[in-house]
Amino acid sequence: MSRRKHKPPGNKRKRRASPARSWFFIALSSAILIGCGAVVTTHWGFRPLPEITGTNIVVPSHWRPEETARTWKWIVIHHSASESGGAAVFDTWHRKRGFDELGYHFVIDNGEGMPDGDVEVGSRWLKQKQGAHAKSADGQYNEHGIGICLVGNFEKDEPTAKQWQMLVKLVAYLSSEYGVPSDRIIGHRDVNGKTLCPGKNLSVEKLREDVKTYLRENRK
Ligand SMILES: [Zn+2]
Repeated sequence: MSRRKHKPPGNKRKRRASPARSWFFIALSSAILIGCGAVVTTHWGFRPLPEITGTNIVVPSHWRPEETARTWKWIVIHHSASESGGAAVFDTWHRKRGFDELGYHFVIDNGEGMPDGDVEVGSRWLKQKQGAHAKSADGQYNEHGIGICLVGNFEKDEPTAKQWQMLVKLVAYLSSEYGVPSDRIIGHRDVNGKTLCPGKNLSVEKLREDVKTYLRENRK
């Protein structure tokens, strides 16, 4: 008989969890934490996630999809033509119109309904799925265009300072990460000329200039 079997009750070693059991609990806790992280990142408006460095620019980690990147050739800017709203509201509108989900990849809020300057990441972007925001005869702008919608009606109002700041950062990141050149940052009206979107008070020319400046100043 080994001495081990005759240790008195209360021996500390007996009360300690076995290494295998400890590892099981560590693994379980990690799985739960990772699972929670995955869930919250897909919800509208959730944002206290750490920023990470990518190719050149530091962006919130939930802007980066885990799916293999689609081939993106265009960045198409929209306004919502409404005074308020957010990704969840537009998702409902789009579903009522027969879309499978929110047609845009990103929504930038204006403080009317959702916090000013918040960048909401659509589930379409996380899945790296084609857009449903810029119809054309050949379908290329939906197939290869990243759709960004700013909440507001820029035929009469202007983007808020925070919206513009986040738009510049987002477009700078997307154009840099996915190799979309400056002249392919366009407004919805440039797709087919059948809409005023994103409104006369949103200058795509100024956006291109500000993105160039941002990239020059933030490249590492
Ligand atoms: Zn539009």
